[in-house]
Order: sequence, then structure tokens, then C-alpha cells
Amino acid sequence: MTAAAPTTATFDSLDPATGEVVGTHPVHDAAHVAGVVDRARIEASWWEGIGFDGRKERLIAWQKHLVQHMDELVALMHRENGKPYGDAALEVTLAIDHLHWAAGHAEKVLRRRRVSSGLLMANQSASVAYRPFGVVGVIGPWNYPVFTPMGSIAYALAAGNAVVFKPSEYTPGIGEWLARSFLEAVGRPVLQVVTGFGETGGALCASGVGKIAFTGSPGTARRVMAACAETLTPVLMEAGGKDAMIVDEDADLTAAADATIWGAAANAGQTCAGVERVYVHERVYDRFLDELTEQAKGLAAEPGGQLGPITMPSQIDIIRRHIDHAIACGGRAVVGGPDAVGDRFVQPTVLVDVPDSCPAVTEETFGPTVTVTKVRDMQEAVAKANGTTYGLGSTVFGKARAVETAQQLRAGMTAINGVLSFAGVPSLPFGGIGESGFGRIHGPDGLKEFTYTHAIARQR
Ligand code: NAP
Repeated sequence: MTAAAPTTATFDSLDPATGEVVGTHPVHDAAHVAGVVDRARIEASWWEGIGFDGRKERLIAWQKHLVQHMDELVALMHRENGKPYGDAALEVTLAIDHLHWAAGHAEKVLRRRRVSSGLLMANQSASVAYRPFGVVGVIGPWNYPVFTPMGSIAYALAAGNAVVFKPSEYTPGIGEWLARSFLEAVGRPVLQVVTGFGETGGALCASGVGKIAFTGSPGTARRVMAACAETLTPVLMEAGGKDAMIVDEDADLTAAADATIWGAAANAGQTCAGVERVYVHERVYDRFLDELTEQAKGLAAEPGGQLGPITMPSQIDIIRRHIDHAIACGGRAVVGGPDAVGDRFVQPTVLVDVPDSCPAVTEETFGPTVTVTKVRDMQEAVAKANGTTYGLGSTVFGKARAVETAQQLRAGMTAINGVLSFAGVPSLPFGGIGESGFGRIHGPDGLKEFTYTHAIARQR
């Protein structure tokens, strides 16, 4: 085993609402990452050896620890990520629910089972099992710094792997907190953390782990895939989105407007499956827009408010560019607009009459902004909703044609008459297609993602 090398370089995490330093963290280099992965291999062997029951018992102990210390984690999320306390508490609660589900279902989904069909079965018996890779590397984003990585960490652990977690450089303290909490609850570092930026994530990809689970932007996803190609390390990709909502003529317009606001502005719009485009049937367009405008005006992003700051300063420039470009192309802001973009906070913005070619319609904005477009019928709505390189989530509001419309959407997930509802259900697979990535976290698919299939055929 290689000893973990000492690391001297450090970086600070900052409170996005104030710019104050929250914590100082090591920049782990390739040598350190290799040492951590070596240690994880030892833990993986012990962890696999204790079996489904042993792991379940320890994961439930971690779950209890998280519940007991939730206030501490929520306070850290508020400071390091800028999340309002209520949003942070909801995020941790949902993450704990996933941990509980993964711990409780791993054996049922993954245990070895006999198979018996086929011409040649008269002479042999056969079985299939889903076995852990050993060590899984999880590279996470900052926008949901607990819920999103837990979608990989909990399922990878429940499937029998040790995990090395590389949190975003914007939320390293939260990653360290999670690993510390696991150690306190379980007594062994089956979950470890490496922090840093620039080289740490790449070093984890090159370290020879059994699988990399990446969540981040499509651009970084390409670099992660290229790095993993060198060692043929399999990857799970959860990348960005440009999710659409469709509102049909028989929809409950008050509920649809409420869902648009929640889907577009929750977490200050920094949600991979947030609603960024809405296509509304022409017969109800004006009424929907009135409802939406009314509801959006009551919402404010401010210190201690319902909406927090934009966590990553460079994201402010992207949001500003999308709004300015939309208006320069003939679009109008019926709520918010260019003045809504401040130095740290962005107010909700509703854009109409924006041409389909504008970045506000084609690129992920990742701010509390949404475009609203009138369509003739559901055929046009589906064509426009599908007219994107992304394919993560989607939403349909309506009655008679809602299911039929949902089935035509090119996306990994669709909510009907609700928004983002697919994310909170542990048994539902979560993920996308196209530039939104591939592979699935959550549910039985999420457990299997962190295993390889092992078939045994025994001749009689
Ligand atoms: P990002 O900048 O694309 O990714 C940042 C992470 O990737 C860091 O931990 C970074 O660490 C690592 N990284 C960068 N270059 C790397 C390389 N060459 N090899 C390995 N790792 C590398 O993403 P983000 O800004 O944190 O997150 C925002 C994005 O995540 C949005 O697009 C959002 O839609 C997406 N997202 C998707 C989902 C989903 O489930 N689909 C969920 C949440 C967020 P180093 O700097 O150390 O390399």
C-alpha cells in the first residue's frame, strides 16, 4: 500500500452571500489521491466481506448519525453553498431517504439468483449476481452538495463498494463533513474524501478505481470520459439539462404557474432538472402568463430570503448574457430582466417572445430565469421541448392528453401535474440522455450501476 503523501497547498471555500471564508482545505494531488484509493481498496475488501446484512446495519447507523447531526450539516450548507435553511433541511432529508432505501433494498436487487431458461439448461445450472467493483470514485457538483452525491454514494456503498468522494471545490467542507460523519457512525473509512481543484478530479479518474460516477457540466463530463478512456474505467454521467414544461389547454393554470416558479427558481435556479423553458397552448397562454407574473413578483432573492445567492460567481455572467441576448433578439422580460442580475443574487426573471435560437432557449442558464413560449398544439409543444441537445427531466401539465404527451418527450424523467417529483422518489431511476449524460442513479438501476454482472454456469 502507498502511504498517503503529505499535501501542503490549500484553498478556501467562501460564503457566496458575503464572500467570507468558511473553511480552508487541502489541494490533494495525484500522489495523495493514489494513497487514498489504496486505503479504500483495503476497506472495500472488508466491506464486501461483511455481506448485505453487515452493510445494512452500518448504513442504518450512518443514517441515524445524519439525523442526529442534521442541524450542523444544514448550517454548514447555508454558509458554504448559500442555501436557505429550509431548502438545506429538505435536501438532507431527501438524501437520508435515499440512504435508507439503498440500504434496505440492496440484497433484494443484487443477490445471486438462479436462472433456468434455454435449450442447454438440461445439463447445467446457472446463476447471476451483481457484484461490487471494489472502489468507486464519486465526483460531485456544488448545487445539491448532499443530495446529488448521496445518489451515488449511498447506492455504491449499499452495493458493497468503498467510495472516494471528490466534492466540488465550492463545497469541500460539506464533503469532508459527510466522510467524517460516516467514520463516526461506522468506525472505518469506507467513505473517504479528497478535496481540491484543477487536478484532483482528474487524478481520481486516473487512479484505477472500478468506476467513476460524475455529476457536473457536459463539458467536464467529456474531459472525465477522456481521462477514464485511458484505463477503460466505466463511467456514470449525470450532466446538465435544459428542461421544458408543457402546459396544455385543459391544465390547472394556477398549479402550472406555481410549478413553473418552483421549478425555475428553487435553489436560485441552480438545479440540473430545473424548468428553464415553458411551452403553453395558445388558448390559455395569456391567462397562464398573468398567473405566472403575479406569483413570480412575490418572490425575492436576498440574504435570509426565500431564494439564496448564486453559488458560483462565474455563473452570474452566464445568466446576464442569456437575459441580455434574449432581449437584444426581440424578447421581453415580464418579470425581472437585466436589472434583476446583481453581484451575488439574481431575482426571478420571466422572458417571453424569445427566438428559439437564443442561448436562453438552447443553453443551460442555471439561474432563476425561464422562457415562456406560445404553441399552436401539443405536437408543436413536443417538437420544441425535444428540440434540445439535452434530455434530463421534463414536465407536463394537463388532463386528457397528459400521459400521451409525456410519452413523446425525449427525456430520462417526466413529471405530470407536478414538478421535479421524480427526484424525491428513491425507487425511481434518475438520469438523462444526450448531453444530460447516461446511466442512472437511484432505485434498482442505481444499485446495479455500481456493480458488474457475474454469471456462473455449472455443468451437471
Ligand atoms: P463541473 O464544473 O462541470 O464539475 C466540477 C467537478 O468536476 C469538480 O469536482 C472538478 O474537480 C471536477 N473536474 C473538473 N475537470 C475534471 C477532469 N478533467 N477530470 C475529472 N474531474 C474533473 O460542474 P459543477 O459546476 O460543479 O456543477 C454544475 C453542473 O452540474 C450543471 O451543469 C448541472 O446541470 C450539473 N448537475 C447535474 C446533475 C444531474 O444529476 N444530472 C445534478 C446536479 C448538477 P477538479 O477541479 O479537481 O478536477
